[in-house]
Amino acid sequence: MNCIDEKLQPIFSEVTRRNCGEPEFHQAVHEVLESLGRVVAKHPHFLDQALIERICEPERQVIFRVPWVDDSGKVQINRGFRVQFNSALGPYKGGMRFHPSVNVGIIKFLGFEQTFKNALTGMPIGGGKGGSDFDPKGKSDGEIMRFCQSLMTELHRHLGEYTDVPAGDIGVGGREIGYMFGQYKRLTNRYEAGVITGKALAYGGSRARTEATGYGNTYFVQAMLQTKGTDFEGKKVVVSGSGNVAIYTIEKVQAFGGKVVACSDSSGYVVDEGGIDLALLKEIKDVRRERISEYATVKGAGVHFISADKGSVWDVPCDVAMPSATQNELSGKDAGTLVKNRVIAVGEGANMPSTPEAIQVFQDAGVLFAPGKAANAGGVATSALEMQQNASRDSWTFEQTEERLAAIMRNIHDTCAATAEEYGAPGNYVLGANIAGFVRVAEAMQMLGVI
Ligand code: GLU
Repeated sequence: MNCIDEKLQPIFSEVTRRNCGEPEFHQAVHEVLESLGRVVAKHPHFLDQALIERICEPERQVIFRVPWVDDSGKVQINRGFRVQFNSALGPYKGGMRFHPSVNVGIIKFLGFEQTFKNALTGMPIGGGKGGSDFDPKGKSDGEIMRFCQSLMTELHRHLGEYTDVPAGDIGVGGREIGYMFGQYKRLTNRYEAGVITGKALAYGGSRARTEATGYGNTYFVQAMLQTKGTDFEGKKVVVSGSGNVAIYTIEKVQAFGGKVVACSDSSGYVVDEGGIDLALLKEIKDVRRERISEYATVKGAGVHFISADKGSVWDVPCDVAMPSATQNELSGKDAGTLVKNRVIAVGEGANMPSTPEAIQVFQDAGVLFAPGKAANAGGVATSALEMQQNASRDSWTFEQTEERLAAIMRNIHDTCAATAEEYGAPGNYVLGANIAGFVRVAEAMQMLGVI
């Protein structure tokens, strides 16, 4: 791991003391603090006014019981979370994650990342995140609906289009957003479309929102490649995951002339040297909700499935790697393999998918590395566009919306690059993203008094 400036060390010690047993949160804070030494050297007032300490402490954290009845009539209990991290720039904004690994530390790391990511978009949105340890795998539609309704029965009192605006994340897609919005509407007797994003088009959703995170990451990586005079044309690409982010990354990479040769889920990965058949992948994952091995079974000869205990998707040689599954999915060892196989660029579609060791390996090898808080910001940016459409009771075309997304991603890329340059680390997108995001939030907080 890189070092934190000695002036910032006490802040990190206090974060670990106060949030014990939350390694992912410590990791996310550490990565940002590593970048801030150069900022406080230039602007000591950020230290004097305890802005970093304040930014590391969420404004509010809600933890609640979610009781629901399963199909056999048995009562089940899950835990619900909403961490309202920072509202200096706008209402709290960030997704809900349903996954058995969810705990308060995971939600805090995600909310912390979200705060800087949202700042980087340049849109008026603060940072928050929520979720539950509920496991949607194998649940019936009725169980999913009853769970979402129960969760919203508590959560609704903490939300509002000017207060806190959730969306999806792992385990939460259009179906779950619909059930949550439906329950919010019943409880409040208000058609407040801007209270949640990722809605279907039929009731106030935005075109291109589903595609936005994957498309956005692809735009970001394309902009990085262009700084080296190259692009996706003819490049071999590996995209981990096979959820919403992965699927639309594959779609855009293919549109840009790249060839995606592998993708994965938690059970393993498939290699298709002919290029992933996107229609088949969508059918298996989105419609049939089956495991990735089914892709190899349907495709037959020449396509391999390798189970997770036998290897990693990062063993597949590629020019560009786009981790789009989950946190810490790409280890230092995986990064070593990718570098040995001559990877030239990495774009993080997921939140914090590379371990600190992996990031170090990429940076030491001179690989173009786009951190998630910049590269995957297209999803939440398009959520902000959805809020704009809801507020003006308007609905834009796909082309208009994608054009805005592309411009936002270009702007985030250029901001990160310019900030890295300004702080003496040209080409370091991690530093650029952390500093640009932090400064925007810190300056707003400063103007608002001691908040
Ligand atoms: N969960 C997504 C993210 O990590 C989207 C959040 C949103 O649209 O509010 O950025």
